[in-house]
Amino acid sequence: MTTYTLPALPYSADALEPVMDARTVTLHHDFHHKAYVDGANAAQKELAAARESGDFKLIEHWTKKLAFHASGHALHTLFWENLAPVGKGGAPSAQLTEAVNASFGSVDKLKAQFSAVAKAVEGNGWALLFYSRADKSLFIAGVENHQKAAHWNAVPLLALDVWEHAYYLKYQNKRADFVTEFWNIVNWDDVSAKFAAASK
Ligand code: MN
Repeated sequence: MTTYTLPALPYSADALEPVMDARTVTLHHDFHHKAYVDGANAAQKELAAARESGDFKLIEHWTKKLAFHASGHALHTLFWENLAPVGKGGAPSAQLTEAVNASFGSVDKLKAQFSAVAKAVEGNGWALLFYSRADKSLFIAGVENHQKAAHWNAVPLLALDVWEHAYYLKYQNKRADFVTEFWNIVNWDDVSAKFAAASK
């Protein structure tokens, strides 16, 4: 049976100030992210019990719960890894820049499209930069919740959480301001490393 564990933050809770305040990061990681880990483990336990008993009458419910919570866990893990203190995020590698230019025209055009997608997500969700192994190119998607409108055969490289809990304490209803500030804490060294691993 698969079990999931909450990874420690790769920096202190106040490391992303002033873009993301320490209290938001602490609540987001220690409670919201942990709830997805706990939810995914609970679903795995119920699915194991169903396999044991042969009683699959709740299979649809627990399969959906697993998709929601395991996707939430995976995306939050990516999100934390994708961030760095202001001024410490490096720059896109030459290899990533070349791929960005081929897919979007320039890094600025990538940022403009990614920001527009993040602002346009209906309700709770994510903006995501993916690498498609099939097409050997990059694309951007807006995903509702953690798992709806997902894309297959692609590796997510950069994630922005636009659920209200990610920004409401500091930005209230101004998601657009949070999206703009987000670019100041992107860890491009991490995004470049993830791109190199996905595209080799
Ligand atoms: Mn979140």
